[in-house]
Amino acid sequence: MINCQSSNSEGGKPIMSGTIVLGYDIESASENTMGFLEGAVILHDKFKVPWTIYLTGVTVEKYGDDIRKVVPNPLLTVGQHTYSHMLLKSIYMKPGDGKPIHGAQPNFFRQGGALDEIRREIERTQLIIRERLGVECRGLTGPWGYYRGLVDRPDILQIMQDNGIQWIRTNARDQRDCQPTPFTEQPFFYADQGFPYILELGVQGYQDDFYWERFDDRQHGDTYQHYLLAMLSMVSENDWVWNLCSHDHGTPIKQAFFKTKGMWLEEVIMHAKDIGIRFLSPCELYDEMKRPNQALQRTCNGACR
Ligand SMILES: [Zn+2]
Repeated sequence: MINCQSSNSEGGKPIMSGTIVLGYDIESASENTMGFLEGAVILHDKFKVPWTIYLTGVTVEKYGDDIRKVVPNPLLTVGQHTYSHMLLKSIYMKPGDGKPIHGAQPNFFRQGGALDEIRREIERTQLIIRERLGVECRGLTGPWGYYRGLVDRPDILQIMQDNGIQWIRTNARDQRDCQPTPFTEQPFFYADQGFPYILELGVQGYQDDFYWERFDDRQHGDTYQHYLLAMLSMVSENDWVWNLCSHDHGTPIKQAFFKTKGMWLEEVIMHAKDIGIRFLSPCELYDEMKRPNQALQRTCNGACR
């Protein structure tokens, strides 16, 4: 049973709340893919918390037989991450601190795909996931993430809708196209753009330990764990949703996973449980956020398990 309860005020303890949605980009199409997945299965089974993987089509083509063994896990939800990791929008990172970003230069630009390319990438990946994994995919993470998500791109939201995508993670940068993404950027439906059934989850904070390494000012401490624990307190106090992200990087075997990503993920899960933060899947969050407005009610028909 997934942990959905909040703690209460019994025994004089303060009421704590907050929600974490754990989702990982599985994109390397390398030995790191299965090392990460094998470690993540063990971690999530141990604590019985839901998790989501966002797969590139290239990764499924290369490791589909192995990934298919993980898919029946009752805590796991499958999303996609385009076919070739194509950006949905251009990004122009301008940190303003003079330090290099993604290379030797102080600023960084990468161009987004053309609309017809984006459509082909998403359609193709839906097909690959359906045929290779037997899953009707309802979620997507936009490669690299973007400032304000897709609020300015109803043309791309239309592609999402045409492909049955109901929840996305694209709101994942600040106004400099850098990170951390403010936690005040909470999940929302794209109703103003005419897509009231598409939920933006966002990626609050840093998209992984490597962006914390580059951007964090260390005001919460010298390690990523210091930052994560400080954010857990804020999430709880403000009853925020935290879509926490990681990647299949540097994890060729499961032992490597537990020495890197798995180590801080385990700390986050344990501490979150200690202070009464709950864990939800994207589908569960979708259904919960739709529930208050009966007129707009439509349930997520993804694989909520
Ligand atoms: Zn990615």
